[in-house]
Amino acid sequence: MSYTGRCYCGDLKYEFDKPIHSQLLCYCRECRYLSGGEANASIVISENSFRFTKGTPKTFKRGDLEKPRIRFFCGNCGTHICVKSPPRPGMLVLKIGTLDDHSWFSPQSAIYCIDKQSYQHIPKEISSFERVPKA
Ligand SMILES: [Zn+2]
Ligand SMILES: [Zn+2]
Repeated sequence: MSYTGRCYCGDLKYEFDKPIHSQLLCYCRECRYLSGGEANASIVISENSFRFTKGTPKTFKRGDLEKPRIRFFCGNCGTHICVKSPPRPGMLVLKIGTLDDHSWFSPQSAIYCIDKQSYQHIPKEISSFERVPKA
C-alpha cells in the first residue's frame, strides 16, 4: 500500500510505502515554530520508501548545530513536508497534515513534554515522555 501527499500549493507531491514505524506528537519548542503553535503531528517512515513524485523540495538546516536536522519544504508555499533527523538514521519524520488522507493518524506517544505550554493538552490515552523514550 502506498500513501500520497503534497504541499499546500501542489508544487510538491510525494508517496511512500509501509511500514510506518511510529506515530507521535512532539511538544518541543522547535516544533511550535514549524507547526504554528500546537504539537507537531508526525510519523516516522523509512527513508528508502519515500519519493517526491512532483517538484524538488528546498532544504534547510541550521548552521550552528553540529548534527542539524535537514528539513524539506516547498519553496513556493513554504509547507514543511519532512525531516531527516541524525538520531534516526535511515528514517524520515513526516508531517501528518501533508498526507492526502491522514484520518487514520493515531499517535502512540507525546515527546518533549518538558517544553509543553499550559494551553497544550496531551491526549490521555497516549504515553508521554519528558524528552524521548529510552531505546
Ligand atoms: Zn507548495
Ligand atoms: Zn519537536
